[in-house]
Amino acid sequence: MNYDADIIIIGAGHNSLTAALYLQQAGHKVLILEKADVSGGAAKTSDILEKGFKHDLYATNIGQFLGSRVYDDFKDQFHQNGFDIVAANQPFGNVFPDKKCIRVYTDPVKTIQEFERFSSKDARAWNDMIEYFTKVSPYLFPILQLPIPSLKMLFHFWKIYRGLGYREMLDLVRVLLTPTRQFLDERFESAEAKALLSPWAFHLGLSPDCAGGATFSLLESAADHLNGLALSKGGVGNLIQAMESVLKQGGTQFLMGTMVSDIVVKKGIAVGVKTADGHTYHAKKAVLGNVTPRQYVELVGQDQLAEKFVKRCKTYQFGPGTLMIHLTTDGPIKWDAAKDLTDTAYVHIAPYMSDISDTYSQIMKHQIPSDPLLVVAQQSKIDPDRAPEGKHVGWIQVRAFPQKITGDAAGKIKIGSWNDMKEPICNRVIEKIEQYAPNIKGIIRKAVVHTPQDLEKDDPNLVGGDMVGGTHHMHQFFFNRPVSGWSRYKTPIKRLYLTGQSTWPGCGMNAASGNLAAMQMLKDL
Ligand SMILES: Cc1cc2nc3c(=O)[nH]c(=O)nc-3n(C[C@H](O)[C@H](O)[C@H](O)COP(=O)(O)OP(=O)(O)OC[C@H]3O[C@@H](n4cnc5c(N)ncnc54)[C@H](O)[C@@H]3O)c2cc1C
Repeated sequence: MNYDADIIIIGAGHNSLTAALYLQQAGHKVLILEKADVSGGAAKTSDILEKGFKHDLYATNIGQFLGSRVYDDFKDQFHQNGFDIVAANQPFGNVFPDKKCIRVYTDPVKTIQEFERFSSKDARAWNDMIEYFTKVSPYLFPILQLPIPSLKMLFHFWKIYRGLGYREMLDLVRVLLTPTRQFLDERFESAEAKALLSPWAFHLGLSPDCAGGATFSLLESAADHLNGLALSKGGVGNLIQAMESVLKQGGTQFLMGTMVSDIVVKKGIAVGVKTADGHTYHAKKAVLGNVTPRQYVELVGQDQLAEKFVKRCKTYQFGPGTLMIHLTTDGPIKWDAAKDLTDTAYVHIAPYMSDISDTYSQIMKHQIPSDPLLVVAQQSKIDPDRAPEGKHVGWIQVRAFPQKITGDAAGKIKIGSWNDMKEPICNRVIEKIEQYAPNIKGIIRKAVVHTPQDLEKDDPNLVGGDMVGGTHHMHQFFFNRPVSGWSRYKTPIKRLYLTGQSTWPGCGMNAASGNLAAMQMLKDL
């Protein structure tokens, strides 16, 4: 088989597939090399526990993807190749002690009633927030899809200025930089309303007091309320497969189970890659790596790069890890607080914002959190295709978890190897859920725990189980992602580009980095 290509892409994450679609469309011959046996990276579906039960191993909510350029440009082809959408009209909710809960529906009247139960002021604040979102989202979302820095971005801010006016534009910038706690304290008064919105920033690794957290709390909660929380029917893997099929039909080649060990550089230009099994593949025009900055340095070799650049890549900061528990069950989870919580896509249990703050400080001390935020995703209640009739699959995302453990904040779990600690950690999590859903223990058929270490083993970009590919704190965001001066997907080696969640605009299935990297390459080649 002849694998010579114009462009070699390292890794088959959704950003790689996105870039490949645009590069292929422009007439380039693309070869994708992927370490794993299937494409998708942090967006894979597998029947890891039992046949007939489909688990999204990582990403499950595809709302960001549906707002992406690549979906806009290729949606017909994706749908012709097996991709379909199913949206939850009960996107998310929280449970609290004393059988209390708060839910967000796509139905505005029902949602307002939820806030009213805690505070009339908060009900008005929610309405105001949705109104604000509706006003600013046509300006906000494009920011996350434009190269930075760029004339296009400058022009976009000109458009914001024309559309919103000077003071409103600066206010929007303020929102982009505000910590979640401040954003929520300015608007809401009840602990329950704040608990409802604050977990979204923590999905991104931003605790309530980290600058920038408000953006994700605002975007995700408002978008889910207005559009529903979307899943890929039958599993996120079906979306990835559809992208892969479109690529294969266009001639893109895939080599799976192939770890790239070196990038071949001649006279300062990337000309191909070497793989761990000893093969060399030539790229006539360019190489695109969906790898972290740290791996970039390893693949290129630090002697090819300036000392300062190497230092910035090596000190690229990863955030806290995540621990995942996948379950198959004999029935749905029955929540004490409300019957219909069983149909809510994500149930968050911290229970309060203060618990997220505590967790953050515990994980910074490398301790197993005593009371971590749990994100309970009930996929098969929204998408029954994922499990045999009457049975269910779901995951529990334990957010967040230390990359390395030196102690237990609750002083109960004996510190040992990750494998030794899986069972007691799982018990802590299930017991926490049991306080709100007493049937949980009785319905579990099988469970598997994936530690931060397991996440990285499966996808080397999830360093220390960091699900967002590097901290999204403000010093490593916007034009400083991944490295100041290198946020436009180019790298110091000619014809060698970077994509993926370590690059702007960061984590999530937004496909923006893949799209923008391809646009930069098409401009240069
Ligand atoms: C637990 C979890 C839950 C999440 N939930 C959501 C969610 O619900 N919604 C959402 O929008 N986002 C979610 N995310 C984030 C989202 O999954 C990621 O932002 C996104 O998948 C990243 O895509 P990517 O293409 O940038 O990189 P990745 O998906 O990380 O893909 C990189 C690929 O490159 C391969 N690779 C790396 N190095 C090499 C090498 N040297 N040789 C060969 N192959 C290599 C890897 O194996 C991998 O397949 C979640 C992430 C995690 C971990």
